[in-house]
Formats: sequence, C-alpha cells, structure tokens
Amino acid sequence: MPSPAGWREVPCIECGKFVEGINFVERCPECLERRQRKAARLASRAAIVATILTAAWTLWQLPHTALGRWYAGLGIGATYFLVRLITRRVAMEVLP
Ligand SMILES: [Zn+2]
Repeated sequence: MPSPAGWREVPCIECGKFVEGINFVERCPECLERRQRKAARLASRAAIVATILTAAWTLWQLPHTALGRWYAGLGIGATYFLVRLITRRVAMEVLP
C-alpha cells in the first residue's frame, strides 16, 4: 500500500523516528536491519543445535553402511539449512 500523498515522513513503529519512504506500521531501515541481524543470529544458533542433535541421532541410529552415511550426510545438511531458514522467518515475525 503506497503512503498517502502529503505524508512525506512517517514514524517508525519501533523507534518512533520520522523516516521518509516507509508506510505506517513499518520499521525504518535501521530497525529492520537490526531485527534481521538478531533473527539471523538466533537462526544460526538454533540450526547449529539442531544439526548437532541430528548428527548424534544419525550416528547412533542409522546403520553404518555406505548408503547410511550418505543419508546421514544429506539429513544433517538439510537439517542445518531448513532449521536456519524456518527459524529466521519465524523470528522475523515473532521477535519483539
Ligand atoms: Zn526505527
């Protein structure tokens, strides 16, 4: 939704600073970047923990064959990627 004509500067929803080029109930570029950094940090930590847990589980449970190792590697890589992606998306919505 474009900002209505005549509104040149709109307050940021988080810091309250008047910024040009954003709409109501949006964050200014600084707040958005800070939020994205926070979400990315949280996401990579969550992904590392999930990857370690997955690696431990696969070492314990999967058969020690060549195919089992392939599946374990694939699962560990996919776990890191997916958990990081999902956590970052959710954090961007949920973080205060
Ligand atoms: Zn702001």
